Amino acid sequence: MDQEIQDLISLETKRQNEGIELIASENYTSKEIREACGSILTNKYAEGYPHKRYYGGCQNVDAIELLAIQRVCQLFNAKFANVQPHSGSQANAAAYHALLPKGGKILSLVLNDGGHLTHGSPVSFSSHLYQFIHYPLNSMGKLDYDEILKIAQQEKPDLILAGYSAYPYAIDFAQFKNICNVIGCYFMVDMAHIAGLVAAKKHQNPVLYADIVTSTTHKTLRGPRGGIILTNNENLIKKINSAVFPYYQGGPLEHIIAAKAICFKEASSAEFVKYIDCVIKNTKACRDELFKMHAVVSDTDNHLFLLNTLDSYQLTGLQAQMLLEEAGITTNKNMIPNDTLTPKETSGLRIGFAAITTRGCTQEEAKKIAYLIHRILSKEMTSKEAKKQVLALTKNWKKIEEL
Ligand SMILES: *Cc1c(COP(=O)(O)O)cnc(C)c1O
Repeated sequence: MDQEIQDLISLETKRQNEGIELIASENYTSKEIREACGSILTNKYAEGYPHKRYYGGCQNVDAIELLAIQRVCQLFNAKFANVQPHSGSQANAAAYHALLPKGGKILSLVLNDGGHLTHGSPVSFSSHLYQFIHYPLNSMGKLDYDEILKIAQQEKPDLILAGYSAYPYAIDFAQFKNICNVIGCYFMVDMAHIAGLVAAKKHQNPVLYADIVTSTTHKTLRGPRGGIILTNNENLIKKINSAVFPYYQGGPLEHIIAAKAICFKEASSAEFVKYIDCVIKNTKACRDELFKMHAVVSDTDNHLFLLNTLDSYQLTGLQAQMLLEEAGITTNKNMIPNDTLTPKETSGLRIGFAAITTRGCTQEEAKKIAYLIHRILSKEMTSKEAKKQVLALTKNWKKIEEL
């Protein structure tokens, strides 16, 4: 009936199948998850929470939402969960609202060092409703807990925020919790990027330390596009629930909540642990190969690393992103710690392996990709030549439709 949209989805399927997707925040969902997203559950209004809805006919969506809550609590060892946030940003908005009065003071990472827009950017609601102050990374691009404590003692925030969009190292939540205890403030973790690693027990679990943990479900967790909020505090879950609905959102997306429930089941399997293990190994393999070729790269403990394109290839992040895109390799420009350029240009790229590992990328292939990136950015290979090699690589991998 709608040929225009059908054709565009077909083109996007082709793009996803034929490209090397290295955007660290993306992934490919299973067919089961996509089917739930496209199911008849989208027809149902269910404002409120299971057994406390504003509409009739909610018995089935109640059971679905309760299952999602039960599974996510078990997966992350949490007592309480809200699975309704439409995205990670909505989850953060609701979490701030549950913890702080308007104007409350939040200490978060310098945005250019890897923070998210909702962590106090001038273009986000967050900076308009709350007062943000920031801690920087040290000259090695790492968290400096002594420095964070010092800033916290001077500034006396109401809340300290950890969890980032472009931080390639493990985060020590226990140290953050100690700092919060010294100051007597709340501790919140936004684990949007590393939720899959936490689920697979390849990263410290923030639920053990933080008052509130927020996350997306569509990054390393490999679920549908959406958000979640976790806590062990019975008083806080009540505030979280009323912050999500009715304060920030209307009717929940029960089709997406069903897909989240499937995602939590998948993420608790032995296969998922193996997958996350491969993601970490592939990321390290690509990073080490670039390092061997004298590129300036961060190290990595997780699913991503940063490539300094300015010092490595005399290219801005934007130029590098465009060159790679011509060859069918998708990345995103990213600020690197102590960046001298603007966020529109940047001095680097963020490179992640969560998505293509789902398609079956091996460590050998991750090294080949490093070689391709190096040859393209050094202009030793035209994008036409590179594109052929990209196609040959992606032919080996699982198709998006079959996953
Ligand atoms: C991706 C991300 C978010 C928000 O995700 P959306 O679903 O795009 O709103 C929040 N926090 C961090 C750290 C993220 O990386």
